[in-house]
Amino acid sequence: MNKFTQLRPWLAHLAKTNRLLATKKNVPLKHELAAIAKKLDGKSSVFFPNPDGHAIPVVSGFMSSRSWIAEAMGVSESDLLSAYRVAADNPLPCHLVQEAPCQEVVHQEFDVRTLLPVPTHSEHDSGPYITAGLVIAKNPKTGVQNVSINRIQVNSKDRMAVLILPRHLHVFQQAAEEMNQPLPVAVVIGVDPLTLLASQAIAPIDSDELEIAGALHGTSLDVVKCLSNDVIVPANAEIVIEGHIPPKVRELEGPFGEYPKYYSSQEKRQVIVVDMVTHRKDPIFHTIVPAELEHLLLGSIPREATILSHLRRSFPGVLDVHLSLGGVGRYHLYVQIKKTHEGLPKNVISGAFSSHYDVKHVVVVDEDVNVHDPIQVEWAIATRFQAKRGLVVIHDTQGSVLDPSTTVGLPFDKDGVIPAQFQGMSSKMGLDATKPLTYEGHVFTKVKIPGEDAVNLDAVLDPQFPMASYLKSN
Ligand code: MN
Repeated sequence: MNKFTQLRPWLAHLAKTNRLLATKKNVPLKHELAAIAKKLDGKSSVFFPNPDGHAIPVVSGFMSSRSWIAEAMGVSESDLLSAYRVAADNPLPCHLVQEAPCQEVVHQEFDVRTLLPVPTHSEHDSGPYITAGLVIAKNPKTGVQNVSINRIQVNSKDRMAVLILPRHLHVFQQAAEEMNQPLPVAVVIGVDPLTLLASQAIAPIDSDELEIAGALHGTSLDVVKCLSNDVIVPANAEIVIEGHIPPKVRELEGPFGEYPKYYSSQEKRQVIVVDMVTHRKDPIFHTIVPAELEHLLLGSIPREATILSHLRRSFPGVLDVHLSLGGVGRYHLYVQIKKTHEGLPKNVISGAFSSHYDVKHVVVVDEDVNVHDPIQVEWAIATRFQAKRGLVVIHDTQGSVLDPSTTVGLPFDKDGVIPAQFQGMSSKMGLDATKPLTYEGHVFTKVKIPGEDAVNLDAVLDPQFPMASYLKSN
């Protein structure tokens, strides 16, 4: 199978197969664009020419199905996680080029608010947000880059507030701030499907996600140096916003409707000062509608692959994992194991809690339960789990700061926000929904009808059968 290492051929492929629909011109950027994309979520991606009359078109939803993501990677759905895992474990160094499509047009004088077609998505959002921007920065201590997607509120012509959750970019920003130095950054919009996926890897700090993008491509990723700083960006991107995060500067950001399908509150957050904008000749702007499938799957699939890798290091009996959509692709982890010891599921639960702070509820099931089918997982909980012996709870751990249930009962400070050190305090719960290794009779034998898998309906059904003659009313 072919893989799609460039954005435009992937969009062309979706269009050819009726999975990229275009709207009429002039769809309003405020709410209406996101509403249309949401209506078609998972069914089709959408191309918006001249939104609000803007010259730059917007595209949304081109990664909004698990099967499409496998297709973009050139693998079958069942090989998706292992293919991603192999790439994440075998990064390829980037290939630096001197001239790049993403720098065909250079803007030194600009107003970001009018230069780019930035949509306002949800009802209570504070305003327009860049939701599909890959934020790239170098570790001030080691020089190794990091890539993450952060929500970015456009504040003025050259200032944008950014939410930086406590992972790698946060470490870089804190390090620069301690030295009282700005952190140079690039915000890259409109990248190929595989680079988008690579940006969400749960890789160690000082593992450059662009090198994972290269591994997913099967060849080194072409990158180019920004014109106003030393950050390296994908050469084939559509749009690059170059800038820096000044130390000790904060501006109000939010509220913003996030992936848990709730709003996160308005708080003072870091600011990106924009120094320059570069883009292709006729660029395409990508927006991710928050909390919809593209948002959930871009988070969940790379996490699944990297969490699977993490768990297998300690537990070779772990066969598969899934971050369910009902768990917003982040909070509910289902783990399938080949159980060899009665105590193994609880060890796996402990390991899963530490695989990512977002993981809140873990369910461990046997190899006969498909973790990608929530009905099967619920069946295992219903019939194999007993709270008295199978429940693991740890209180007051670090969870997701975007989980609204973590805010209940916490103190708010004078600005009406929860002090940072308490944000995201969460209980974690694990359920051992495996059956015992030994049992009496058929207590845990799954009901099966001999021959059910071999039934050939074409051979046994009779389309000519005179049904009406058997069903006369009198
Ligand atoms: Mn990272």
